Amino acid sequence: MSRRGGTRVRPTRKPIVVVAGEDRNDRLSLRILLEEFCPEMRGRIVEIGDPVRLHQATGANLAARAETLARKVRARAVRDDTTVACVFVHEDLDAVDDDQYPITRLRVEKALEAALGTAHYALAVAEIESWLLLFPDALTAVSGSWWVPARYRGRDTGRLTDPKQVLMKEVSGSSRRYREADAPEILGQVVAMGLAASPVGRNRSYEQLREDAARCCSEHISAKSR
Ligand SMILES: [Zn+2]
Repeated sequence: MSRRGGTRVRPTRKPIVVVAGEDRNDRLSLRILLEEFCPEMRGRIVEIGDPVRLHQATGANLAARAETLARKVRARAVRDDTTVACVFVHEDLDAVDDDQYPITRLRVEKALEAALGTAHYALAVAEIESWLLLFPDALTAVSGSWWVPARYRGRDTGRLTDPKQVLMKEVSGSSRRYREADAPEILGQVVAMGLAASPVGRNRSYEQLREDAARCCSEHISAKSR
């Protein structure tokens, strides 16, 4: 224990990266990918459970929701006796990728930036399960009974209306059926197999997360941590 003048010296914590979202599995999934895309985030990501309802909000309503989230983020930094390097907010669009998706994503990201300074909005199309279908080999590595049918390989998985059902009914079977709690393990396998940068097929929301993590790493984390 280091003590100086009877007062315990607090460890200097690096600025935190906050991952906010409603679902614990989704937050953990995001964290696994962020730490892979930006190793400098390892050991500094904290999670905030928040019933994020941003993609359907506009105008003053959206600004108010972003500000509520920002207050929680600032309170967490105060509690941890540190500052905030950046924030990633996850939400499922629950609709397929279309022309409206980038417009919605940008509208919310601007509102988050206004409230937080720097922030990234990880709006998954249609939901985070669509990202898992980009990695057939990792799915089979997690369970030998899982197999992604050819018709889902090399696709734009953001166009699938119900990727969770595809995973439950067409990829997995009765011997081990996919559950939402499996998502972090599958993405952990993706990372372990070195596949995170080599998706089979595409998904704009996954590509967006990669770009955001890289930009955050070079512009936000490094700038606030040195
Ligand atoms: Zn950032």
